[in-house]
Amino acid sequence: MTPIDGRAMARALTDRIAADVAALVGDGIRPGLAVVLIGNHAPSEVYVARKIAEAARAGIASFEHRLPADTDEAALLALIARLNADRAVHGILVQLPLPPQIDAARVLDAIAPAKDVDGFHPVNVGRLSTGTGGLVPCTPLGCMMLLDSVIDDYRGLNAVVIGKSNIVGKPVAMLLLERECTVTVTHIATRGLPEIVRAADIVVAAAGAPRLVRGDWVKPGAVVIDVGITRVTDTAGKARLVGDTAFDELGHARAATPVPGGVGPMTIACLLANTVRAAEAAGRG
Ligand code: NAD
Repeated sequence: MTPIDGRAMARALTDRIAADVAALVGDGIRPGLAVVLIGNHAPSEVYVARKIAEAARAGIASFEHRLPADTDEAALLALIARLNADRAVHGILVQLPLPPQIDAARVLDAIAPAKDVDGFHPVNVGRLSTGTGGLVPCTPLGCMMLLDSVIDDYRGLNAVVIGKSNIVGKPVAMLLLERECTVTVTHIATRGLPEIVRAADIVVAAAGAPRLVRGDWVKPGAVVIDVGITRVTDTAGKARLVGDTAFDELGHARAATPVPGGVGPMTIACLLANTVRAAEAAGRG
Protein backbone atom coordinates (compact mmCIF):
# COMPACT_ATOMS: atom_id res chain seq x y z
CA MET A 1 0.00 0.00 0.00
CA THR A 2 1.25 3.47 -0.88
CA PRO A 3 0.58 6.02 1.84
CA ILE A 4 -0.67 9.25 0.25
CA ASP A 5 1.35 12.09 1.76
CA GLY A 6 -1.15 14.91 2.23
CA ARG A 7 1.41 17.14 3.94
CA ALA A 8 3.81 17.02 0.99
CA MET A 9 0.98 17.54 -1.52
CA ALA A 10 -0.37 20.47 0.49
CA ARG A 11 3.10 22.06 0.64
CA ALA A 12 3.50 21.70 -3.12
CA LEU A 13 0.02 23.14 -3.73
CA THR A 14 0.69 26.07 -1.39
CA ASP A 15 3.94 26.79 -3.28
CA ARG A 16 2.01 26.85 -6.57
CA ILE A 17 -0.61 29.12 -4.98
CA ALA A 18 2.15 31.46 -3.74
CA ALA A 19 3.37 31.77 -7.34
CA ASP A 20 -0.18 32.58 -8.52
CA VAL A 21 -0.50 35.15 -5.73
CA ALA A 22 2.77 36.78 -6.77
CA ALA A 23 1.45 37.05 -10.35
CA LEU A 24 -1.81 38.60 -9.12
CA VAL A 25 0.07 41.05 -6.93
CA GLY A 26 2.07 41.99 -10.04
CA ASP A 27 -1.29 42.84 -11.64
CA GLY A 28 -2.22 44.99 -8.65
CA ILE A 29 -4.47 42.44 -6.90
CA ARG A 30 -3.52 41.13 -3.45
CA PRO A 31 -5.86 38.20 -2.70
CA GLY A 32 -7.56 38.77 0.65
CA LEU A 33 -9.28 36.31 2.98
CA ALA A 34 -11.57 37.43 5.80
CA VAL A 35 -11.86 34.93 8.64
CA VAL A 36 -14.68 35.36 11.13
CA LEU A 37 -14.43 33.59 14.47
CA ILE A 38 -17.18 33.83 17.07
CA GLY A 39 -16.57 32.89 20.68
CA ASN A 40 -13.67 30.80 21.92
CA HIS A 41 -14.31 27.25 20.78
CA ALA A 42 -10.81 25.78 21.26
CA PRO A 43 -10.58 23.62 18.08
CA SER A 44 -11.90 26.55 16.00
CA GLU A 45 -9.14 28.78 17.42
CA VAL A 46 -6.56 26.21 16.28
CA TYR A 47 -8.10 25.89 12.78
CA VAL A 48 -8.33 29.66 12.32
CA ALA A 49 -4.74 30.20 13.47
CA ARG A 50 -3.56 27.55 10.96
CA LYS A 51 -5.59 29.02 8.11
CA ILE A 52 -4.22 32.50 8.77
CA ALA A 53 -0.61 31.24 9.03
CA GLU A 54 -0.91 29.29 5.75
CA ALA A 55 -2.54 32.26 4.02
CA ALA A 56 0.42 34.41 5.08
CA ARG A 57 2.85 31.77 3.76
CA ALA A 58 1.17 32.01 0.35
CA GLY A 59 1.19 35.83 0.39
CA ILE A 60 -2.59 36.13 0.87
CA ALA A 61 -3.72 39.02 3.07
CA SER A 62 -5.94 37.92 5.91
CA PHE A 63 -8.43 39.94 7.87
CA GLU A 64 -9.34 38.37 11.16
CA HIS A 65 -12.65 39.28 12.80
CA ARG A 66 -13.09 37.93 16.32
CA LEU A 67 -16.49 38.44 17.86
CA PRO A 68 -17.62 37.58 21.39
CA ALA A 69 -19.60 34.36 22.03
CA ASP A 70 -22.79 36.38 22.76
CA THR A 71 -22.74 38.14 19.36
CA ASP A 72 -26.24 38.24 17.89
CA GLU A 73 -27.14 37.20 14.37
CA ALA A 74 -27.86 40.77 13.22
CA ALA A 75 -24.34 41.90 14.16
CA LEU A 76 -22.78 38.99 12.30
CA LEU A 77 -24.97 39.61 9.23
CA ALA A 78 -23.95 43.29 9.31
CA LEU A 79 -20.27 42.27 9.33
CA ILE A 80 -20.85 39.90 6.41
CA ALA A 81 -22.57 42.67 4.45
CA ARG A 82 -19.52 44.90 5.00
CA LEU A 83 -17.14 42.11 3.92
CA ASN A 84 -19.29 41.38 0.84
CA ALA A 85 -18.85 45.02 -0.20
CA ASP A 86 -15.12 45.25 0.65
CA ARG A 87 -13.04 45.08 -2.54
CA ALA A 88 -9.92 44.00 -0.60
CA VAL A 89 -11.76 40.87 0.55
CA HIS A 90 -12.03 38.10 -2.04
CA GLY A 91 -12.88 35.22 0.28
CA ILE A 92 -15.06 35.11 3.42
CA LEU A 93 -14.88 32.24 5.85
CA VAL A 94 -17.13 32.01 8.87
CA GLN A 95 -15.66 29.38 11.15
CA LEU A 96 -18.24 26.80 12.22
CA PRO A 97 -19.75 25.84 14.60
CA LEU A 98 -21.62 29.02 15.48
CA PRO A 99 -23.13 29.71 18.91
CA PRO A 100 -26.76 28.55 19.33
CA GLN A 101 -28.34 32.02 19.05
CA ILE A 102 -27.11 32.27 15.44
CA ASP A 103 -28.75 30.40 12.54
CA ALA A 104 -25.78 29.03 10.58
CA ALA A 105 -27.82 28.52 7.38
CA ARG A 106 -28.94 32.17 7.37
CA VAL A 107 -25.34 33.30 7.85
CA LEU A 108 -23.95 31.10 5.08
CA ASP A 109 -26.73 32.28 2.76
CA ALA A 110 -25.66 35.89 3.39
CA ILE A 111 -22.12 35.42 2.07
CA ALA A 112 -21.75 36.58 -1.54
CA PRO A 113 -21.45 33.34 -3.58
CA ALA A 114 -18.39 34.76 -5.41
CA LYS A 115 -16.63 35.16 -2.02
CA ASP A 116 -17.87 31.88 -0.52
CA VAL A 117 -14.48 30.13 -0.36
CA ASP A 118 -15.94 27.36 1.81
CA GLY A 119 -18.39 26.53 -0.98
CA PHE A 120 -21.35 26.20 1.40
CA HIS A 121 -23.68 28.82 -0.18
CA PRO A 122 -26.73 27.24 -1.89
CA VAL A 123 -25.65 28.80 -5.20
CA ASN A 124 -22.29 27.03 -5.03
CA VAL A 125 -23.94 23.80 -3.82
CA GLY A 126 -26.31 24.04 -6.81
CA ARG A 127 -23.43 24.71 -9.20
CA LEU A 128 -21.58 21.67 -7.87
CA SER A 129 -24.63 19.46 -8.29
CA THR A 130 -25.22 20.67 -11.84
CA GLY A 131 -21.50 20.57 -12.72
CA THR A 132 -21.46 24.25 -13.68
CA GLY A 133 -18.40 25.61 -11.86
CA GLY A 134 -18.65 27.61 -8.65
CA LEU A 135 -16.52 27.33 -5.54
CA VAL A 136 -16.15 23.75 -4.27
CA PRO A 137 -15.91 22.97 -0.52
CA CYS A 138 -12.29 22.68 0.57
CA THR A 139 -12.20 19.21 2.16
CA PRO A 140 -13.93 17.47 -0.79
CA LEU A 141 -11.66 19.35 -3.21
CA GLY A 142 -8.64 18.15 -1.22
CA CYS A 143 -9.98 14.57 -1.27
CA MET A 144 -10.19 14.68 -5.06
CA MET A 145 -6.64 16.02 -5.40
CA LEU A 146 -5.40 13.21 -3.16
CA LEU A 147 -7.30 10.68 -5.30
CA ASP A 148 -5.98 12.30 -8.49
CA SER A 149 -2.43 11.56 -7.28
CA VAL A 150 -3.11 7.82 -7.67
CA ILE A 151 -6.08 7.46 -10.05
CA ASP A 152 -5.99 8.43 -13.74
CA ASP A 153 -9.28 7.07 -14.96
CA TYR A 154 -12.29 7.20 -12.66
CA ARG A 155 -14.90 6.10 -15.21
CA GLY A 156 -16.98 3.22 -13.94
CA LEU A 157 -15.13 2.79 -10.64
CA ASN A 158 -17.25 1.96 -7.62
CA ALA A 159 -16.91 4.70 -5.02
CA VAL A 160 -18.38 4.45 -1.53
CA VAL A 161 -18.69 7.57 0.59
CA ILE A 162 -19.28 7.06 4.30
CA GLY A 163 -21.10 10.08 5.75
CA LYS A 164 -23.64 12.38 4.12
CA SER A 165 -22.84 15.77 5.64
CA ASN A 166 -23.19 18.93 3.59
CA ILE A 167 -19.55 19.82 4.14
CA VAL A 168 -17.91 16.51 3.20
CA GLY A 169 -20.02 13.49 2.26
CA LYS A 170 -22.50 15.03 -0.18
CA PRO A 171 -20.06 17.29 -2.07
CA VAL A 172 -17.43 14.54 -2.34
CA ALA A 173 -20.14 12.25 -3.75
CA MET A 174 -21.02 14.92 -6.34
CA LEU A 175 -17.39 15.28 -7.39
CA LEU A 176 -17.00 11.50 -7.77
CA LEU A 177 -20.23 11.37 -9.78
CA GLU A 178 -18.88 14.13 -12.03
CA ARG A 179 -15.92 11.82 -12.78
CA GLU A 180 -18.42 9.09 -13.71
CA CYS A 181 -17.81 6.83 -10.76
CA THR A 182 -20.73 4.71 -9.59
CA VAL A 183 -21.29 6.35 -6.22
CA THR A 184 -22.91 4.93 -3.11
CA VAL A 185 -23.45 7.35 -0.25
CA THR A 186 -23.79 5.66 3.13
CA HIS A 187 -24.56 6.96 6.61
CA ILE A 188 -25.41 5.99 10.15
CA ALA A 189 -28.64 4.20 9.12
CA THR A 190 -27.03 2.24 6.27
CA ARG A 191 -27.45 -1.52 6.60
CA GLY A 192 -24.62 -3.89 5.76
CA LEU A 193 -21.93 -1.21 5.50
CA PRO A 194 -18.96 -3.66 5.49
CA GLU A 195 -20.36 -5.49 2.41
CA ILE A 196 -21.00 -2.20 0.62
CA VAL A 197 -17.45 -1.01 1.33
CA ARG A 198 -16.03 -4.37 0.14
CA ALA A 199 -17.37 -3.62 -3.36
CA ALA A 200 -15.59 -0.26 -3.53
CA ASP A 201 -12.60 0.73 -5.66
CA ILE A 202 -12.60 4.07 -3.84
CA VAL A 203 -13.58 4.56 -0.20
CA VAL A 204 -13.99 8.04 1.27
CA ALA A 205 -14.65 7.79 4.99
CA ALA A 206 -16.11 10.92 6.58
CA ALA A 207 -18.11 9.68 9.54
CA GLY A 208 -16.14 10.84 12.57
CA ALA A 209 -16.20 7.24 13.85
CA PRO A 210 -12.69 6.16 14.93
CA ARG A 211 -11.36 3.08 13.07
CA LEU A 212 -14.83 2.31 11.68
CA VAL A 213 -13.42 0.90 8.43
CA ARG A 214 -11.43 -2.24 9.22
CA GLY A 215 -8.93 -3.92 6.95
CA ASP A 216 -11.29 -6.77 6.08
CA TRP A 217 -13.87 -4.26 4.78
CA VAL A 218 -11.47 -3.04 2.13
CA LYS A 219 -11.05 -4.77 -1.23
CA PRO A 220 -7.45 -5.48 -2.29
CA GLY A 221 -6.25 -2.65 -4.53
CA ALA A 222 -8.83 -0.11 -3.32
CA VAL A 223 -7.88 3.52 -2.67
CA VAL A 224 -8.93 4.81 0.75
CA ILE A 225 -9.30 8.46 1.74
CA ASP A 226 -9.77 9.02 5.46
CA VAL A 227 -11.40 12.34 6.29
CA GLY A 228 -12.29 11.50 9.89
CA ILE A 229 -10.60 13.25 12.76
CA THR A 230 -11.44 12.24 16.30
CA ARG A 231 -9.36 13.41 19.25
CA VAL A 232 -8.85 10.54 21.71
CA THR A 233 -6.87 10.31 24.91
CA ASP A 234 -4.84 7.12 25.32
CA THR A 235 -4.29 5.24 28.58
CA ALA A 236 -1.16 7.33 29.27
CA GLY A 237 -3.33 10.47 29.08
CA LYS A 238 -1.80 11.56 25.77
CA ALA A 239 -4.16 13.10 23.21
CA ARG A 240 -3.92 11.97 19.59
CA LEU A 241 -5.99 12.16 16.42
CA VAL A 242 -7.65 9.01 15.08
CA GLY A 243 -9.15 8.60 11.63
CA ASP A 244 -12.19 6.66 10.46
CA THR A 245 -10.07 3.83 9.06
CA ALA A 246 -7.72 1.28 10.62
CA PHE A 247 -4.76 2.49 8.53
CA ASP A 248 -2.47 -0.22 9.96
CA GLU A 249 -4.82 -2.89 8.52
CA LEU A 250 -4.80 -1.49 4.98
CA GLY A 251 -1.61 -3.18 3.71
CA HIS A 252 -3.58 -4.76 0.84
CA ALA A 253 -5.07 -1.44 -0.34
CA ARG A 254 -3.51 0.29 -3.32
CA ALA A 255 -3.13 3.61 -1.51
CA ALA A 256 -4.51 5.29 1.59
CA THR A 257 -4.28 8.57 3.51
CA PRO A 258 -3.03 8.59 7.10
CA VAL A 259 -4.52 10.62 9.96
CA PRO A 260 -2.96 13.00 10.68
CA GLY A 261 -1.06 14.02 7.55
CA GLY A 262 -3.64 13.16 4.88
CA VAL A 263 -6.78 15.16 4.19
CA GLY A 264 -6.30 17.80 6.93
CA PRO A 265 -3.40 19.73 5.36
CA MET A 266 -5.06 19.59 1.91
CA THR A 267 -8.20 21.23 3.30
CA ILE A 268 -6.28 24.36 4.23
CA ALA A 269 -4.33 24.44 0.96
CA CYS A 270 -7.65 24.20 -0.92
CA LEU A 271 -9.02 27.14 1.05
CA LEU A 272 -6.09 29.18 -0.24
CA ALA A 273 -6.67 27.86 -3.76
CA ASN A 274 -10.33 28.92 -3.58
CA THR A 275 -9.33 32.38 -2.32
CA VAL A 276 -6.98 32.84 -5.28
CA ARG A 277 -9.68 31.63 -7.69
CA ALA A 278 -12.11 34.13 -6.18
CA ALA A 279 -9.53 36.93 -6.48
CA GLU A 280 -8.78 36.01 -10.11
CA ALA A 281 -12.51 36.01 -10.92
CA ALA A 282 -12.95 39.38 -9.20
CA GLY A 283 -9.96 40.71 -11.19
CA ARG A 284 -11.54 39.54 -14.45
CA GLY A 285 -14.97 40.85 -13.43
P1 NAD B 1 -21.03 15.05 10.51
O1 NAD B 1 -21.11 14.66 11.94
O2 NAD B 1 -21.73 16.27 10.02
O3 NAD B 1 -21.50 13.83 9.60
C1 NAD B 1 -21.09 12.54 9.85
C2 NAD B 1 -21.77 11.62 8.88
O4 NAD B 1 -21.28 10.30 9.10
C3 NAD B 1 -23.28 11.55 9.03
O5 NAD B 1 -23.87 11.56 7.75
C4 NAD B 1 -23.55 10.22 9.73
O6 NAD B 1 -24.77 9.63 9.32
C5 NAD B 1 -22.36 9.40 9.28
N1 NAD B 1 -21.93 8.42 10.29
C6 NAD B 1 -21.58 8.66 11.56
N2 NAD B 1 -21.23 7.50 12.17
C7 NAD B 1 -21.36 6.52 11.26
C8 NAD B 1 -21.20 5.13 11.27
N3 NAD B 1 -20.81 4.51 12.39
N4 NAD B 1 -21.41 4.43 10.15
C9 NAD B 1 -21.80 5.06 9.00
N5 NAD B 1 -21.99 6.39 8.93
C10 NAD B 1 -21.79 7.11 10.04
O7 NAD B 1 -19.47 15.13 10.23
P2 NAD B 1 -18.61 15.90 9.11
O8 NAD B 1 -18.62 17.34 9.44
O9 NAD B 1 -18.98 15.44 7.75
O10 NAD B 1 -17.18 15.32 9.48
C11 NAD B 1 -16.91 13.94 9.41
C12 NAD B 1 -15.54 13.68 9.98
O11 NAD B 1 -14.58 14.34 9.17
C13 NAD B 1 -15.32 14.21 11.39
O12 NAD B 1 -14.42 13.36 12.06
C14 NAD B 1 -14.65 15.56 11.15
O13 NAD B 1 -13.84 15.95 12.24
C15 NAD B 1 -13.82 15.24 9.96
N6 NAD B 1 -13.49 16.40 9.12
C16 NAD B 1 -12.21 16.52 8.74
C17 NAD B 1 -11.84 17.55 7.92
C18 NAD B 1 -10.42 17.66 7.51
O14 NAD B 1 -10.02 18.71 7.05
N7 NAD B 1 -9.65 16.59 7.60
C19 NAD B 1 -12.80 18.48 7.48
C20 NAD B 1 -14.13 18.30 7.86
C21 NAD B 1 -14.47 17.24 8.68
